[in-house]
Amino acid sequence: MTTPTTNNSSNSVLDRPGYMKPCNGCGQCCKDEACSLSVKYLHSEVAPCIALEHQDGRYWCGLVRDPAKYLGLKEWAQEWAVIELSPHFAYALRLGAGCDAYYGPE
Ligand code: SF4
Ligand code: SF4
Repeated sequence: MTTPTTNNSSNSVLDRPGYMKPCNGCGQCCKDEACSLSVKYLHSEVAPCIALEHQDGRYWCGLVRDPAKYLGLKEWAQEWAVIELSPHFAYALRLGAGCDAYYGPE
């Protein structure tokens, strides 16, 4: 999801799969560095990202799963936000394109 500068995989529930391998939700990237969306919309200054969620044995991007919650929108906007905003965030994060957390040659 981003390009962290350290490799601390010891906190992961799952092992990081490797650069460009299918993302398994290990969450390492978001623990190490808040992505550009997190900085822009959530004003993150430190990691782990406040939108990083853990469920069913893996990590998820809360900004994609529940944008209204993290953007501070009214409850009535929750469904709208999932329909209108989640796809844009998922596209910006290139979800489904593989792990883009680059820690150097592996
Ligand atoms: S992008 Fe990579 S480091 Fe980030 S959660 Fe997915 S597999 Fe883990
Ligand atoms: S906004 Fe999502 S992808 Fe970006 S750092 Fe936070 S949890 Fe990770």
